[in-house]
Amino acid sequence: MKILVLNCGSSSIKFQFFNMETQTVLAKGLVEKVGLNGSQLKLNKQNGEQVIFQGEIVDHKSGIEYVLGVLTSQKHGCIASLNEISAVGHRVVHGGELFSSSVLITQEVVSQMEKCIDLAPLHNPPNLKGIEAITELIPEVPQVGVFDTAFHQSMPDFAYMYGIPYALYKKYGIRRYGFHGTSHRYVSQRACEMLNIDFEAQKIITCHLGNGSSIAAIQNGKSVDTSMGFTPIEGLLMGTRAGDLDIGAVLYIMEKENIGVESASALFNKHSGLLGITNISSDLRDVLNAAQNGNQQAVLSLKMFNYRIRKYIGSYAAAMNGCDLLIFTGGIGENSKSTRLEVCNDLKWLGFEIDEGKNARLNGTESVISTANSKVKILIVPTDEELMIARDTQKITQEKR
Ligand code: ADP
Repeated sequence: MKILVLNCGSSSIKFQFFNMETQTVLAKGLVEKVGLNGSQLKLNKQNGEQVIFQGEIVDHKSGIEYVLGVLTSQKHGCIASLNEISAVGHRVVHGGELFSSSVLITQEVVSQMEKCIDLAPLHNPPNLKGIEAITELIPEVPQVGVFDTAFHQSMPDFAYMYGIPYALYKKYGIRRYGFHGTSHRYVSQRACEMLNIDFEAQKIITCHLGNGSSIAAIQNGKSVDTSMGFTPIEGLLMGTRAGDLDIGAVLYIMEKENIGVESASALFNKHSGLLGITNISSDLRDVLNAAQNGNQQAVLSLKMFNYRIRKYIGSYAAAMNGCDLLIFTGGIGENSKSTRLEVCNDLKWLGFEIDEGKNARLNGTESVISTANSKVKILIVPTDEELMIARDTQKITQEKR
C-alpha cells in the first residue's frame, strides 16, 4: 500500500510518499510560493538526490497536480501510474470539538471541517484546498484527515476551560484545544514501543520543542493537558511567540501603544519569544551562539525558555500525580543537549535524573538518556508526524474496505 501525505499551508505544500509495507519514504518534497512569484517544487528522491522544478504554480490544485506528475514521471518518479496511490492523508490544523480522532473524508466531513475555519482562519482553508484538489484530480482515491488538535480532545473539562464567562465558550468555542497532537501521540507511543511497555498504563510528559513549542501530559494513553490553548500562542516561550502572558499586560500594551488587534497579534505571535527578548533571532542555535559570546539578553532568553519548560514539567507531574516517562522531541528537543540538560538538572528532586554523558553522546538519536537509577525514564524521540498521518490513513482506509 502506498500513501501520499500532504501538509498544505497558505503558500506551501509539503508532501511525503510512503510505502507502508516497508514503512519507507519513496519521495518527499515541498512546493514553495504557491500563487506567488518564483514558485518551485523541490523533490527529494529516495536515493538522496534533490531535484528542483521551477514554474508557475498558481494555486494548490496546480501544485498538487505538479506533485502527482513528479511522482509518476519517468525520469524522477517512483510509481508507474497514479493507480498506485492507495490513499491520501492530510494534516489538518484545527478540528475544533468536532474531531477527536482521524477520519475518512466525506462530503459531510468537509462541511464539518468548514465549520472549524473560524478557529484557524489561516491554516484550515489551505488544508481544505488540498482535500478539494485531490477530490478533483484523483476522485477515486480515499482521503483521511488527521487533526493537530484531535489527540487533545480527551482533556477533561476542568483542564480545557478558561475562567471566562461560560456563555463565551458556548458562543464561540473559546477553550483550550492544544496543537502538535500528532507529534505528542507519535513520540509517546514510540517511546513505549522502544521500552516495550504498555502505552495505556503510563504517565508521560512530552516536550515538543521547535519554532513552535508545546508540552503535553499523557495519562493512560490519553492527553490530559497541554500547554498550547485556544491558539498556538499560549504556553512556552517560543521562537517568535510570547507564550503565557498576563492578559492585563496585553490590554495595557494595546492601550499605551495605541494598537489594534492585527498589530497586537503580530507583536505577540511574530515579534516576541526568543526573537523579542534577544532582538537577534528566533532560531535557538543563533541564540545559543550569542549567549556563548556573552550577549546578556541571549543568556536571559535561554534561562526564560528553560525555566518555563521546567515549570510545565513540574505542573504536569502534579496534574498526573507522577510521571514515568519524559520525552524530548522537535528541532530543539531532539538536538539541543544544553536545553535538555538545563531543564532536567533542576528536576532531580522529582525523580528526573539525566545522564550527562548519554545526553551529549546520543544527541539527535532515538534513545534513553536518563541514568539507570532515575525514577523517570528520559528519552529523545525524533518526531515523525508524516509517518503517523500515513499510519492513520492506512488504518482508516483499510477498515473501510
Ligand atoms: P518547526 O516548529 O518549524 O517544525 P523545528 O522542529 O524544525 O521547527 O525546530 C526548529 C528549532 O530547532 C530552531 O530553533 C533551531 O535552532 C532548533 N535546532 C535545530 N538544530 C539544533 C541544534 N543542533 N541545536 C540547537 N537547536 C537546534
